[in-house]
Amino acid sequence: MAYLNPKSKEKFLRNKSQRLDIDLLVREIFSGNRTAIAQGLTLVENQKEETHQHSIQLISKLSEIKTDCIRVGITGVPGVGKSTFIEALGLHLVEQGNKVGVLAIDPSSQKTRGSILGDKTRMEQLSVNDNVFIRPSPSSGALGGVAKTTRESVTILEAAGYDVILIETVGVGQSETIVKYMVDFFLLLMIPGAGDELQGIKRGIMEMADGIAINKAEKSNRSKAKLAAKQFNNALHMFPLPDAGLTPFVETCSALHFEGIKIVWDSILNHINHVKKSKHFTTNRTEQTKFWLKEAIKFELENAFYNSAAFKDSETNLMSAEPFIKAKLMVDRFLNTESKE
Ligand code: GDP
Repeated sequence: MAYLNPKSKEKFLRNKSQRLDIDLLVREIFSGNRTAIAQGLTLVENQKEETHQHSIQLISKLSEIKTDCIRVGITGVPGVGKSTFIEALGLHLVEQGNKVGVLAIDPSSQKTRGSILGDKTRMEQLSVNDNVFIRPSPSSGALGGVAKTTRESVTILEAAGYDVILIETVGVGQSETIVKYMVDFFLLLMIPGAGDELQGIKRGIMEMADGIAINKAEKSNRSKAKLAAKQFNNALHMFPLPDAGLTPFVETCSALHFEGIKIVWDSILNHINHVKKSKHFTTNRTEQTKFWLKEAIKFELENAFYNSAAFKDSETNLMSAEPFIKAKLMVDRFLNTESKE
């Protein structure tokens, strides 16, 4: 029996003594309870000291649940049609019997506190579907923190039985690198009629893509889109073969008119099947886990160091020293104190 606290905004699941009951929360998330999922997501987004331990317990327990979920990253410059595409793809996936989770990483939201996916009206049909869970990007925090939250959110949605997780990000900064290291497939959305340099997409992002979908390819745009597809295909063949062992596909679609969505999804599945057979799927996930482990170690070490006396005591005269020498002395002092404790 779940005890809901009516006073709490997010109604955390609590036991009789009104304490957050993590085992109960795990069970409810596993059974797909939407309130519990929302509570779990809030818990991992809320990076406060007092809830940190709960968040660790929750994620540790949920990450033991193994699933066949597919994680797909979707990027592209603002206006290319990411939200419209996710709505169309999401509906297609639900029609095929899947449960779909949608998350976002939005670097701009750290400054503006706005957020992609924040405006629910952008995914009108998807947001009211019972088999879909949409979570706008966390609206604050450093990119490292956002990455941690997003990874943990993926764990929650997978444990709750979502078959496909779509992670949206704006293709203009470093957030795509973060998404690339979280997903099994990375899709780049483009529009016809402009060279990639005009679309603000850097070569690096094209190299990260496992596939490209040229959106808005309807009516009079269709022939321009086909031409763009040909050009991208030629360009991609000049890049080194990605680790996945497959040249990225290029397809055209119209998210607004629900055209070509099935072809794009089938191409993604084709890629996934290929990498599962070649074992790259598993190796990629292992590499990703290693990457995040290293990132997390860096984060923890930095945190410990900047909160230590070794740093704080010398902070005031930081400007007066040669930085490399000073840093070495400070870190040595930090390590000495740590090893004595
Ligand atoms: P985002 O900023 O990348 O998320 O882009 P949106 O999904 O918000 O779309 C930006 C604009 O492009 C909106 O006015 C959409 O209606 C429009 N749009 C999206 N997909 C298509 C498409 O396939 N064809 C056309 N003609 N317009 C589209």
